[in-house]
Amino acid sequence: MAEAILKEHLYPTLKKYFGYDEFRPKQEAIISNVLAKKDTLVIMPTGGGKSICYQLPALLLEGVTLVISPLIALMKDQVDGLKANGVEADFFNSSQEPEEQQEIFEKVAQGTLKLLYVAPESLSALNDILKETYISCIAIDEAHCISSWGHDFRPSYQQLGFLKRSLPNTPIIALTATADKATRQDIVEQLNIPHAQQFISSFDRANIKLEVRPAENRVAQIIRFIEKRPDESGIIYCLSRKGTENLAEKLQQKGIEASAYHAGLSHEDRSQVQEDFIFDKKKIVCATVAFGMGIDKSNVRFVIHYNMPKNIEGYYQEIGRAGRDGLPSFALLFHTYADVIQLRRFTEGASNEDLQNAKLERMKEFAEATDCRRKILLSYFGEYLEENCGNCDVCENPPKFFDGTVIAQKLLSCIARLKGTEPSGVVIDVLRGAQNQNILGKNLQQLKTYGIGSDIAWRDWQHYLTQLINQGYCEIAFHQQNALHLTQLAKKVLFEKQQVWLTRPQSVQEKKETAR
Ligand code: ADP
Ligand code: ZN
Repeated sequence: MAEAILKEHLYPTLKKYFGYDEFRPKQEAIISNVLAKKDTLVIMPTGGGKSICYQLPALLLEGVTLVISPLIALMKDQVDGLKANGVEADFFNSSQEPEEQQEIFEKVAQGTLKLLYVAPESLSALNDILKETYISCIAIDEAHCISSWGHDFRPSYQQLGFLKRSLPNTPIIALTATADKATRQDIVEQLNIPHAQQFISSFDRANIKLEVRPAENRVAQIIRFIEKRPDESGIIYCLSRKGTENLAEKLQQKGIEASAYHAGLSHEDRSQVQEDFIFDKKKIVCATVAFGMGIDKSNVRFVIHYNMPKNIEGYYQEIGRAGRDGLPSFALLFHTYADVIQLRRFTEGASNEDLQNAKLERMKEFAEATDCRRKILLSYFGEYLEENCGNCDVCENPPKFFDGTVIAQKLLSCIARLKGTEPSGVVIDVLRGAQNQNILGKNLQQLKTYGIGSDIAWRDWQHYLTQLINQGYCEIAFHQQNALHLTQLAKKVLFEKQQVWLTRPQSVQEKKETAR
């Protein structure tokens, strides 16, 4: 079919097989590019509607579209869904019976199959049909898996460069939800499609309000938060399985209907929790990151991170489960150094430890930001907002700086007196003149700095310390029991009278909950 004729079929096909009247932003342009047999790179957030970008062309083009996808479980769901809509689709894997595989090959040879899903590991078994006469298009889903820059690198994706070499005239469409500039470049290079047209959807989810709070009394804060919005559905992400169970229990004790969800539960229990949530029988799920994939619930009103996620990709994906209906929604992140330390421990010894730590560092910067959070979030994905968003806690409550030189001097000299051997908790204890066993046992009450900061509350010291770390005056030695060390910069404050500007802590109680 000529291109113009294909175009006439776009809307009727969209309606007939997918039931929609309109395309979402960029979908039509992407599909036209594929129908023109041009290589294409699609960067679109999760839930943006990537699948149609190759499923619809597959229906209009002659031959079969090969869909390369990393997860066999998701493949089956997709194929079932397509079949239910009357689309000739199937998946291929090496564990299938030879007869089954033969049947698939025959359908391909006859040109009746429209979409064939396959994991990259199984591609080598498809040699007989990897011919341009049969294949109309190659779709590569989760294309970031090809890049070791991405967060989900899979070695099996690295061989995919051969596709363009063996089928040079077959268009390739690569799709992913998460790709910064470096990853994007890596994808097109490795797939040998350097001239692919790139379609990058906005990652902005303007309806989701972003807020970060210090993590004291998290449970009490969460209870208050939920009690203010009793009819709303929400997900609370925790780092550990145990954490989800503990939190759910505490919420239940307060009469809040919450369930726990993690990969350690039986298949039946997990399905039950999902179902209760989707059908609004239980409004709150305390979950690990295992929860959410493939859950299509449009009216999730809030996502809370009880613990800090390990990178911005993960954070973005998880908060993105709120407000898919476009209505005002809430993303609340609790931040504490304890989480950062814990996450560091997880990365220790990993082959890409440095990369993971760099990503964690960006996450931490986001949590500690004194500028519009959405600007920071979007800039991570290579998007730049000109104006502040007006829908994050920093925009609503911009920090006010004051001359915090004396506070900084006290804190830094206390670290100096402790010779960089103690973690932040002990430093603050010494400043505040605490009389606990650890302090007295180590004779720290003898120090000159003991008690010089008793006029400042514990959590306010923490707030100031965080800022001094961020401004580079001291650092946490993650490999030495998290002891606080001074940096070169600290000397300027201690000996050269350099001024330090700090923001005042917003007391958690006072902090007006800027509810919508
Ligand atoms: P992604 O793969 O980008 O995460 P999907 O392709 O699974 O997203 O699509 C997400 C949801 O949006 C699905 O429920 C899909 O049916 C729906 N969707 C996609 N395109 C449209 C459209 N043009 N109109 C309405 N809904 C759409
Ligand atoms: Zn903002």
